[in-house]
Amino acid sequence: ASLREDVKARLRDVPDFPKPGILFKDVTPVLADPHLFRRVVDAMAAPFQGQRIHRVVGVEARGFLLGAPIAMALHAGFVPARKPGKLPWRTRTERYALEYGEDGLQIHEDAMGPEDRVLIVDDLLATGGTAQAASRLVTQLGAQVVGFSFLISLDFLPGRQRLGADKVCALLSY
Ligand code: 5GP
Repeated sequence: ASLREDVKARLRDVPDFPKPGILFKDVTPVLADPHLFRRVVDAMAAPFQGQRIHRVVGVEARGFLLGAPIAMALHAGFVPARKPGKLPWRTRTERYALEYGEDGLQIHEDAMGPEDRVLIVDDLLATGGTAQAASRLVTQLGAQVVGFSFLISLDFLPGRQRLGADKVCALLSY
């Protein structure tokens, strides 16, 4: 069977998580399957092989789980983008809007520089606010965002256009 069909069969839709009315796509069964996890990592890295990626930025927390093995597949370094207050060293911060209120992401200020070509990884693209904040962090440090790799993209939301459709790769689209 195709990789996309195998992932679809393993994804779990959880109603009313984390809030009533939200249908949450749970990727943990995909990660728990040894063969499927490896195929997903290889497929999410594949479009960026040969693109001289120096750093993979993984977005807390599920972006860490996919971003770290993707970084290894690309022979790149891994850089965590974390919620405010979690990183121990000097940081840069970007704020982004949520449906109600706002949130932030931080990165270590010495994690990359002007010579670096960067891939941003997360499990799911919805409105694009989170990935856009990660992208602005990379730009703040003078590095270049080459692209974005997601397991799932919700294409009824404006995330893909917000990030620049030509830069976005997703294994599955809904
Ligand atoms: P956005 O900022 O694009 O609106 O939301 C994307 C962020 O929220 C990602 O970090 C993603 O992990 C998380 N997220 C939102 N909805 C879901 C979902 O249904 N399933 C999963 N696994 N993550 C989600």
